Amino acid sequence: MVALVCSPSARYPSGYVRQFGQFRSPDRLLTGARRSVEIALIDFHTHSNASDGALSPSELLHRAAEAGVKAVALTDHDTIAGFASVSESVPLGVRLVSGVELSCQWGKVGIHVVGLGFDATSGGLVAHLNGLDSARLERAEMIAHRLAQRGMPGALEGAMAVAAGAQIGRPHFARWMVMNDHVKTEAEAFKRFLGKGKVGDISTVWPDLQQTVGTIVEAGGLAVLAHPLKYRLTATRLNVLCAAFVTAGGAAIEVINGRPGPGETDRLMRLAGAHQLLLSVGSDFHREGEYGAGLGVDTARFPSGSGIWERV
Ligand code: AMP
Ligand code: MN
Ligand code: MN
Ligand code: MN
Repeated sequence: MVALVCSPSARYPSGYVRQFGQFRSPDRLLTGARRSVEIALIDFHTHSNASDGALSPSELLHRAAEAGVKAVALTDHDTIAGFASVSESVPLGVRLVSGVELSCQWGKVGIHVVGLGFDATSGGLVAHLNGLDSARLERAEMIAHRLAQRGMPGALEGAMAVAAGAQIGRPHFARWMVMNDHVKTEAEAFKRFLGKGKVGDISTVWPDLQQTVGTIVEAGGLAVLAHPLKYRLTATRLNVLCAAFVTAGGAAIEVINGRPGPGETDRLMRLAGAHQLLLSVGSDFHREGEYGAGLGVDTARFPSGSGIWERV
């Protein structure tokens, strides 16, 4: 049994401590066993080549073990195939938590919800994922159609070959566009054709936020609002989103995704406190490289009782 109330520490944002005194776990999540946190390195947001990552699920888990990460969730976009393929062969020293990053829709805004610690055999979840398979294929056809109109024929077959059986996504189109000299880099493919507001940005096909969070909760999991600052919402709209997320049954928000900018984590912790949400962290690892973070996030700075890693 571990005290759920911590004393304010110097590393804890002072505004947060002033407003909320001590961190208290959201009442609606106070069920089940409470465990102490002896571990520091956690990664609850990673991608394998079952979606748009570069490493196989097994390679990713071995890298995580080497890096000393104690608990990992493989959160591929709209698929648990990677998780299912390694759940019986997890390297020693790492705990694998079931995970997925679900695409959904909040009004006109595309939102990502990470699901953690669910029953991967849940009928509702499996049906939801089957729906997302179809949605992604339909979207890929629409993207290819629009690229063909801009002088890039054959994108569907090309991107599917790049994906090689993985859940198809825009990064596979970007890679194909580079391979076929339509653009010089994948970043350019996003900037000109696939990114926010461009022809290949089609987000109206996803299920809504409420249904998405509900599916995770019904499967016995906890829902996390992924990278809340990436949706480029005003502070007011972000608050409305958090409220809608809580109403839908959401449990946590990501306060670290990859490499946060200055002040971002403190801002998100205040947001979590205001909405009685737990904290989650992840590298959003896709591949080794100069951009993005390596595997593992140090959770030592966060107060006991505040992390979703203590609940799954
Ligand atoms: P999708 O899941 O098909 O909507 O594609 C979104 C994925 O594309 C994200 O998860 C990122 O991995 C990747 N992505 C998004 N924006 C960019 C960008 N500007 N440059 C490179 N990759 C990106
Ligand atoms: Mn991705
Ligand atoms: Mn995402
Ligand atoms: Mn991600």
